[in-house]
Amino acid sequence: MPQRRALVVLNYHRIGNADETPFDSGVFSATAEELDSQIAYFKHRFHMASMEEVFAMIGGDVPRGTSVLITFDDGYLDNYTLAYPILRAQGVQGVFFLPTAFIGTGKLPWWDVIAYIVKQSVKERIRLEYPEPASFNLKDDGGKRACMQILRLFTQPAVKDPERFIAELEKVCEVSRPEEGVDRCFLDWQEAREMQEHGMAFGSHTHSHEILSKLSPELQREEALHSREILERELKRKIDILAYPVGLKHCFSAETVSILEQTGYRAAFSFYGGSNLSGKIRPFDIRRYGVADQSHARLRLQTAWGTATGANWF
Ligand SMILES: [Zn+2]
Repeated sequence: MPQRRALVVLNYHRIGNADETPFDSGVFSATAEELDSQIAYFKHRFHMASMEEVFAMIGGDVPRGTSVLITFDDGYLDNYTLAYPILRAQGVQGVFFLPTAFIGTGKLPWWDVIAYIVKQSVKERIRLEYPEPASFNLKDDGGKRACMQILRLFTQPAVKDPERFIAELEKVCEVSRPEEGVDRCFLDWQEAREMQEHGMAFGSHTHSHEILSKLSPELQREEALHSREILERELKRKIDILAYPVGLKHCFSAETVSILEQTGYRAAFSFYGGSNLSGKIRPFDIRRYGVADQSHARLRLQTAWGTATGANWF
C-alpha cells in the first residue's frame, strides 16, 4: 500500500508477559522481544519521529512520508526496566505520559484494582446493581471477557461514584482489593530523569488519571496544572504535552481542550485510533493507535492500512 504523508502515533502501556500478572493483563501491549522486533520493523519502514519533529509538523512542516512516534502511557516500572533499554539501543525516542500521583509510589490504579478483584474471585457469576443492573460470567474465557466488560462499565459517565462501584465489586466477588505499597508498580523520578538524560521525552497523563470529562472545569484545571508542576519540578524541563486518560472520544471535551490551552499546553493525545494526515493534525486531538497483543504480521498490516488510509485499524 502507498504511504501517505502522515504522522502515525503508536501507543503502548505495559511491556512484559500478560499471563504472569495478578493485575490487569489488558494493559500489556507487547513482550520485550515483541517490542524489540516491532521497533526494528518501524525503523526499517518509516521515519521515526521525535516530539520536537511533531511540534514542527503541527506548525506546518510537511513530512516526506510516514513518520512514526512511539508513546507509552501510565509510567509502569516495566517502561524503565524493559522498554527504555530497547528504545535506547535502537536510538528511538519514546514519549512517556506519567500520571504524577502514581510515580514513585506503591499506589495501584483503578483498572489494576478491578482486574485483581475479578481475577481472584472464585464466583462463577456476579451481578452488579450500580450504575445499572448487569450480570457477568467470571469463568467464561478465563474471566478475560468479564474483566474487560467491567472495566468498560467503570469508565461510563453514569459511574459518578467510583468508590461505590469498587466497594460493590469487592462485595459480590467476595475479594478485598489488593494491599497497596507491597511492590512498586510505577517508575520513580530518578528512573524518569535517567531516561530523559538518554533522549526519552515526558508528558502529563494528568495527576490522578481520572477521566477528565467526568470532572468539573475547576478539577480539570487542577489536574492539568498540578501534574505539570510536579513534572517540571522533578524533570527540570518544560512540560507542555498531555495524553488524555483512557483517551476515547467521550473522555475529553471542547471544554477540556480550552482548559489545556489556557494552562499552557501545546498538544494533547487521544486514544481512539486513526492517523494524523499532514496538514490536518489537530494539536489537541493527536490520534493514536493502540498496540495490543496482535501478532507481528497483523501489526504490519494494520500499520500499512493506517498509513495508506488514515483510518482506524481493523
Ligand atoms: Zn492511562
